[in-house]
This record gives sequence, C-alpha cells and structure tokens, in this order.
Amino acid sequence: MQRWFTSFKPGCIIATSLHSVNFSELKNRRPVDSHLLSRYAPLHRPTVPFAQPKRKESQSPMPSRPEQPLDRVNTYSRPTDLRITDVRIATIVGAPMRCPLIQVYTNQGLVGYGEVRDGASKHYALMLKSRLLGENPCNVDQIFRRIKQFGGHARQGGGVSGIELALWDLAGKAYGVPVYQMLGGKFRDRIRIYCDTDVRGKDDGTAMGQALRRRIEMGFTFLKMDVGINLIQDEPGTLTAPLGYLDETRRAIRRPGPEYGEEQRRELARRWYALNNTAHPFTGIRVTEHGLDRLEQYVADVRSVIGYEVPLAADHFGHIGIEDCIKIARRLDKYNLAWYEDMLPWQMTEHYVRLAQSCATPICTGEDIYLKESFAPLLASGGVSIIHPDLLTCGGIYELKKIGDLAQEHGVAMAIHMAESPIACMAAVHAAAATENFLALENHSVDIPWWNDLVTGLPKPIVQDGYIAVPEAPGLGIEALNDEVIAAHLDPEDPGLWEPTDAYDRLDSHDRLWS
Ligand SMILES: [Mg+2]
Repeated sequence: MQRWFTSFKPGCIIATSLHSVNFSELKNRRPVDSHLLSRYAPLHRPTVPFAQPKRKESQSPMPSRPEQPLDRVNTYSRPTDLRITDVRIATIVGAPMRCPLIQVYTNQGLVGYGEVRDGASKHYALMLKSRLLGENPCNVDQIFRRIKQFGGHARQGGGVSGIELALWDLAGKAYGVPVYQMLGGKFRDRIRIYCDTDVRGKDDGTAMGQALRRRIEMGFTFLKMDVGINLIQDEPGTLTAPLGYLDETRRAIRRPGPEYGEEQRRELARRWYALNNTAHPFTGIRVTEHGLDRLEQYVADVRSVIGYEVPLAADHFGHIGIEDCIKIARRLDKYNLAWYEDMLPWQMTEHYVRLAQSCATPICTGEDIYLKESFAPLLASGGVSIIHPDLLTCGGIYELKKIGDLAQEHGVAMAIHMAESPIACMAAVHAAAATENFLALENHSVDIPWWNDLVTGLPKPIVQDGYIAVPEAPGLGIEALNDEVIAAHLDPEDPGLWEPTDAYDRLDSHDRLWS
C-alpha cells in the first residue's frame, strides 16, 4: 500500500491520496517538534478546511457518530489554488559534498524539496525567490521557462535546477502521483546505481581493484574509478610540463585558509582560480611513454582483480590536451572500459569528435552542461557515445528527460551524474525511470550511513544490492526531511537551519532577454 503524508501542525495532517493513507501510522505519527514549531511558526500555516457537503435546513439532522480518522485529515489538496509562499535553505557538509538543501513552502501546507548542486552557492536558488512567490508550483514548465535565464553551466545551473525539483515534488504531492508518472510513466522499477570509488592509503591498481571488488560484493553491477595524471605526477619521468608548473599546481590545490592575511588570501585565491581554470589544451602538460606505461599498468592491475565481466568506467584523467588524451585512450582500449569521462572540456566539440574517432572506447561527458540546447551540438557531432548530465546542472527533472530523449535519437545512451543528498538522488531516480536510454546513476554516498537518514519515507539504506527502487509515493517519494540529522551536519560557515530569507522577497529587476 502506498503510504505518504505530511504533518505540518500538531493534530492536523494533509494526505495527498486517500488510498495512500495508513491509519495506524497516522495515529502513531509524532507531531512536529514544538521547538521547531515555535522557531518556524510562520511556515506552519493553517490547513485548508476539510470540505464538508452543506446540509439543507429541511434535511433531518445527521446522526451523531464517533470521530473517524479522516475527520482531521484533508484527503485532497487544491492544486489550482496552490501558491508558493516561501523558500528556505539548509546547507550540509560531508555528504560527502557540501549541499544546500531547499524547501519551497506553499499556502496549503505542502512543502517541496529541492537542492542546489554540490559545491554551489545557495544564493543561486535564493535569487529566484522573488520570481517564485505567489506562483502555482504545478505550472512547472511555465516557471522553469521564466527562471532558466538565471542558470548557467556547471555549478551555476544549481539554482534553477534545484528549484525545478521542488516544483515537481509539489506538483506530485498536490495531485497525489509520483514524479515519474507525470513524465509519461516508467521504463523500469529499479534504478541501477554505480559508485565513484576511492582508495584509502596507497593508491595502486591492486588496491583500486580490491575496493571495486568490495562494491561488487555489495551488489553493484556497474563500477567507476579515477585514472589520471595525479596518479603519476610524483614519479619522475612520467609527465612533461613547463618547469615549476606542476609544483605550483600541487601547492595551489587548496584554497588559502584563515592563517593568511586578507591581502595574501586574495592574491593566493586569484592564483588558485587561474590554475584551476586553465583548460586542458592550455596547461602544456604532456604524458611520456613511461607515464603511459604506469597508467596502463594501473588499469591492468584493476582488471586482474575484478575481471572483465563487470562494466568499469574511468574519470578524472587530468588537464591534458587532445593528443595526450588520444595516447591514453588508445593505451587503455584493450581493457574494455565502459567509458572515458570528461577527458576534455565539454565545449570543445571538435576535440570530442577527434577523440571519439581515435579510439574504441565510448566517450562520455555532460555533468557540467546546462540545458538541452547545449547538449545538441555535441550529440549532432558524433563526439560522444554516452552523455552524463547532472540533474542539478542540466535544468532539473524535465530537462534531464528531454536531454535523454534527444540523446536516444542520436543512438547515445544516458548515464546520470549525482553527488548530492537523497533529494537530488530521488529526483534522478524518477527521471531515470522515465527515460528509455538510461544506463546507470552515480552515487557518492554509499559509505556515509547518515546520508540515508537525511530523509524519511524511503527504504534504509536507500541503495540496496546496487539498485534504488522507484518510489510510488507522491512527488519525489520523500516523506519528510530529518531536521535532527540535517542540524548535525550543517556547514560551520553557514549554520542556518531553514532561516528566514525575507531579503530575497522583492523583485528588483526587469527580466527580459531582448528589447
Ligand atoms: Mg565526473
């Protein structure tokens, strides 16, 4: 039986589907914590009165009856009258990324869950608040088309995309259906998950193989590892680069901390930005034959541990130019990898075509691409065999579905990048369920137990035997966010928990992209 409900006021429960109510659970459900109610009282607005048919005066009085469970339950929402009233954020860290979580509140007590992409600014979402207040969240596409102009590639797509998730969650809760159903239904009942896998301690091919073997033992049927120049940069004779460049890159890998003075921090931050934003062809880093030998040995050792039956993708090759990408790609072809990911900046379409035509392993990119129209040239070029959009960059759930369908027209499969909380994860699950050419969904959090506890209403753990079951509950299928767990993992530099965001209420710009 479906089970879903949201309590937002003691003794008052809204259920989106009469058929989804489990009465014993309703009875035992703990009310919202009183301290949260007092702190966030404005968010817990009165429920819409439960509609009762009016009796005419001439009718005989209704016989009295004992109170029934549904007497205090609103068995429907009123989607037509649903309006957005507030947007609030809580930013967690260690999930393993820093993730700004979003709650979008409405005049009917329904709350939609969204999330800004990992490592991005919460302000990307909050700047949209003035464009959302008073809007009906069920008009997902209309609102998306209004706010999409404020999104961009990579982390900059996180605000628009994160809000879009919350709109779908609200629409699903208002109409009482899971998100995948609103996308046209599902192609599968469970979603294949793959984990990005790290090695603790000395990172060699055998250790990586053993770590991946443990993933297989956990039930995972698809694997990914990192193979790049960072593995060999400390070994003499493996890389050629402008003298001193590699040392400076190593030193600048971390942002300057508070131990530096303000002026020094600014200068170091400028240099950090410059080094980290030097695109692959412009670093001057090249891989020697000895370096290629070392990388090949790493992958050979991995395959010797895990065998050749399981798909194994590879990522994070490093910032090297097209010619060196081709050298690595040809060396590793014999290990039958599932894909080479982000070997080059995704914007360099012609380089992708050269790379794809130079090797026999599927070429993959996409986690930093915003909107379907930005995928189109790459797909038309034939430069990729697999795309890998991130739901929180590409524009959200509906845009991801459209990107997947466009890729399918070009004979390209779709994997999904995901490194965030269960909110983004479940949004990706719905989009993956509704997209035919879906391949596998990424997860970075299977080794973090509390990641599962950030939400309620889903199986624990969320990933079981390498899959996530597609939820049948309305919206994303998340019953509630767990404020206790969220509060325990707030960003120390931004420790607010759903604090007021009134500063973003006023619309102070004329938004139009032409004159
Ligand atoms: Mg990647």
